[in-house]
Amino acid sequence: MKTSSILFFGSLALLPFPVFGEETGSLANIEFGQLASQLGATTVGENCRYKKLDLTKIESDDFSSSNHFIFNQDKYAGDWSCINLKAHIKDDSLKDCTPNPSDVFQLSPDSPLKINGKEGYRAGGIPILNTPALKFNMPYQYEVSKDKENNLNVTVKIHFTGSILKDPSNKALVQVQLDKAAEVWSKQSPSGKMKFHFLSVEASEKPDFKVELKPKIHAHLYNSTWDFELFKAGYGANTIAHEIGHMMGIPDEYDPFRDDIWKVHNEVDSRRCNTRGMMCNSYVKKTYPYYYYLILRRAACALRDQSPSQKETVEKSLDVMSEVQAVTKGPTVDCEPETEAPPKKKRSKFLDYLRRLFQRSKND
Ligand SMILES: [Zn+2]
Repeated sequence: MKTSSILFFGSLALLPFPVFGEETGSLANIEFGQLASQLGATTVGENCRYKKLDLTKIESDDFSSSNHFIFNQDKYAGDWSCINLKAHIKDDSLKDCTPNPSDVFQLSPDSPLKINGKEGYRAGGIPILNTPALKFNMPYQYEVSKDKENNLNVTVKIHFTGSILKDPSNKALVQVQLDKAAEVWSKQSPSGKMKFHFLSVEASEKPDFKVELKPKIHAHLYNSTWDFELFKAGYGANTIAHEIGHMMGIPDEYDPFRDDIWKVHNEVDSRRCNTRGMMCNSYVKKTYPYYYYLILRRAACALRDQSPSQKETVEKSLDVMSEVQAVTKGPTVDCEPETEAPPKKKRSKFLDYLRRLFQRSKND
């Protein structure tokens, strides 16, 4: 898979118009309500039916009424989709990009598109100090291209380091598990037309991210350090799919503060998100249509907003890429210690949380 944003911009400059699929429209922005409902989100006009905290309470009360099977029903999937889709678009460095989903999923780029930017991750404030929620902007980078069968390919190239990789069997295991994680994304894609490729590459192969693998650290910073145990755990492919979800610009949906400190009544109440979905709960493999839209809409807008006069965009894109590499060091947003057995609850660690919060704000 050849990757070159310079090639793309260069070749596009020769075309009078970007080449889209036959039935693709103008890719003009549409209203939120219209786009969200196409993605299975429940909307009321331009708004979601519930606010996040209200929906948390509603679903949490359902759970308390001892109907444990609610976790299989996904009764509020549309409401959670609406809340998250709205928040993720708003927190994206590319927020002014809301083309019609039916056009986005029919995108047919002529050349590979390198996508990069930043997505905001929100940590609930500190309730006793009454601080507002904090937002940390974290990088994403990946490539979107099409193949001969007109499938849309999404590729993320990761350069893994760490002494653990000196063992050839460990190195082989990495790609095996990346393939499984890619399959999780591909299999559930709309109409099965999106194919995901997560590749372990050398430093010389222009990786999108560099990640150090460490043994038994019990935490993952998606763009910096992963616990190697992830590659051995039964649910490891799901968690890898979750981490690479971040690389493709979808933030954590759970509330890290509450999840670390409060340990309230049940999973819904702790996490305040749809616990069936991969970006809320990294042990599970379920994806939702809005994940795919978030990833692909950026490629649609890269085509739409490109013009031959925007040569400086190439420079800007290269700047962002070097920035992406620069920030892959240093602790920022870490996901939960997912290598523990999934159902086990962690103990509250208030000081740990404050320390990490401090590190995040330093790195933002
Ligand atoms: Zn995460």
